[in-house]
Amino acid sequence: MNDKSSGKVIANLADGDLSRPVISAALQCRGSKQANLFALARQQRSVAFPSEEVEVRSVIEVSNVCRQGCRYCNMGLKSKQEKYTISYEELLRLAEFVYEKKNRRVLLLQSGENCSKDFIDHLTECVEELHRRHPDLVLILCCGNLTEAQYRQLYNAGARRYVLKFETSNPTLYRQVKPRDTLQRRLECLETLLALGYQVGSGNIVGLPGQTLGDLLDDLELVGRYPLAMQSATVFIPGESSDYKNEPPGDVDTTLNLMALMRIRYPDRLMPTTSSLEKLRDDGQYWGLMAGANTVTVHDGTPPELKHLFPIYSTKRITLQDDHFRAVVERAQLKFATKGLK
Ligand code: SF4
Repeated sequence: MNDKSSGKVIANLADGDLSRPVISAALQCRGSKQANLFALARQQRSVAFPSEEVEVRSVIEVSNVCRQGCRYCNMGLKSKQEKYTISYEELLRLAEFVYEKKNRRVLLLQSGENCSKDFIDHLTECVEELHRRHPDLVLILCCGNLTEAQYRQLYNAGARRYVLKFETSNPTLYRQVKPRDTLQRRLECLETLLALGYQVGSGNIVGLPGQTLGDLLDDLELVGRYPLAMQSATVFIPGESSDYKNEPPGDVDTTLNLMALMRIRYPDRLMPTTSSLEKLRDDGQYWGLMAGANTVTVHDGTPPELKHLFPIYSTKRITLQDDHFRAVVERAQLKFATKGLK
């Protein structure tokens, strides 16, 4: 696409032209064209979510035990870090705190990938009890590839949403960044979750070493292949003690543009503005909302003394709290919702 036609890219998108040349030009928009791209994304969000609310979640990082070895991550199999798993009593206490004191109605339980029977039974007991005590609490799990029986067990316990990012649609690149896994296996898990009735979230990482613009176009198509409830584009951050520690981080503008394109193409899905944006750019999460996002995750569930043991992408994590988010959400002319939007 030449310069002249790239000037028309927003008009093309607004007319429903989502062809690859248009998407490719849109990914590279900067300045006033990027502002117009974000405006179009927000317009689509307003139609799909007329309440103009942002879903707010708390997260509890249940365990850092992980059998994977993702090359961008500070955790995982090779990590020498101290391992922890939050006990049943402690997890319920933390969940009560965010439910009662923070008035949160959406809770994300995240862990490394650990398919041991002990861990899944432990998680199941926690989910079951939380669901029994608080049927209005939406429980989202983000615990990686498990077996169908394990996903079913957790669903039957009361979990209704699951986040399983595919990270990249390029199978060769996937194998490079996640050497102990395959894209095929990942997508099989995603299909299993959908078949069981979960509301599923998935998405990619922008800026992985070796990733091309064409890969990002394929990622956008892959997000559309499944009836997802949640979608995401996150920016690559090389973990300080990971294999990729010397690689450059991903480009924030390209990530924001991909988020905007996800919103334009698949308008009725929840989409997070992530702390990785904030880490790479001041006010990054505000810009995520301006690019069409409508969920934020507040890191107020994991006890402070354990937070440094869950350095999934960085040991210097951004853990902003309610006051900050309220101000950011208001500035983006949105409302802070504690209930699930779906
Ligand atoms: S990104 Fe997740 S699955 Fe991969 S090594 Fe880190 S904790 Fe494990």
